[in-house]
Amino acid sequence: MSVMTVLGPVDPGELGTTLPHEHVFIDLVREYRGDGLLNDRALAVAELREYVEAGGRTLVDCTSVGLARDPLALVSVAEETGLHIVMGCGYYRDPYLPPELDRMSVDEAADTIVRDIEEGVDGTGVRAGIIGEIGSDRAHLSALEERSFRAAARAHHRTGLTITTHAARWPVGLPQLDLLAEERVDPRRVVVGHCDMVPDSAYHLAVARRGAFVELDTVQGESDYDTRCRVAWMRNLAEHGFLDRVLLSQDVCLRSNLRALGGSGYAYVPTVFADHLRAAGFDDSDLRTILVDNPRRALTGE
Ligand SMILES: [Zn+2]
Repeated sequence: MSVMTVLGPVDPGELGTTLPHEHVFIDLVREYRGDGLLNDRALAVAELREYVEAGGRTLVDCTSVGLARDPLALVSVAEETGLHIVMGCGYYRDPYLPPELDRMSVDEAADTIVRDIEEGVDGTGVRAGIIGEIGSDRAHLSALEERSFRAAARAHHRTGLTITTHAARWPVGLPQLDLLAEERVDPRRVVVGHCDMVPDSAYHLAVARRGAFVELDTVQGESDYDTRCRVAWMRNLAEHGFLDRVLLSQDVCLRSNLRALGGSGYAYVPTVFADHLRAAGFDDSDLRTILVDNPRRALTGE
């Protein structure tokens, strides 16, 4: 199976170091006024070049419906940086769900997702390579979010693409997995996102034990203490035998996340955080598992 990028299919062996949960262009202004808009193409290229210089080859852009996804801008950034960019699809979460979703049946919503995957988004011909991020705003799934999840599950069965979720509030990753299981989705094809926003290693283990990918995707945190916690959670997952279930990313989605504007940028995982992991006893083989093999397996289901 190849992986679909915005420039077309890529052999999984070519993906290399991969960030599984980022945003290049996004509009979160309704929640983050003054900070939640990434729409500057030249700035995006400059920021992403730091990731390329750090050895990055692939980035999964989880921007889905409701977040001002821009396929043609992603194409131009992929061409300029040489990065493989995998684009998302599906419906994000409350309060970003479009009013038309309320009028669709689950299968009609699934049809729109399958169209993004098989034909491309909005007539551009640019095709999605992952379903998500789809999510829950709160600690439970709202009725409309449930519809979005069922539609994503049915699109998964029709296309074989992986599902990646937004689960920022404890313990919503588990009911998300329950709902997807009801739709007969194998948890090994699901990435539970934002697990590191839940400061509870027992929760991380519970997600891993279901067979899903445990995604720590704000590893830069907001303080040294946050970073130490994330390293400790990684050690805990590895000690319990779940090294192959872990994904790392930075979820760049605000202007303040960009290096030029004072943030830690797109290269934090393969540089600063990788050094923290080495200092905590992870070796080069472990890092290859975490940064290269796990995201490839997450994307392909291999
Ligand atoms: Zn998210």
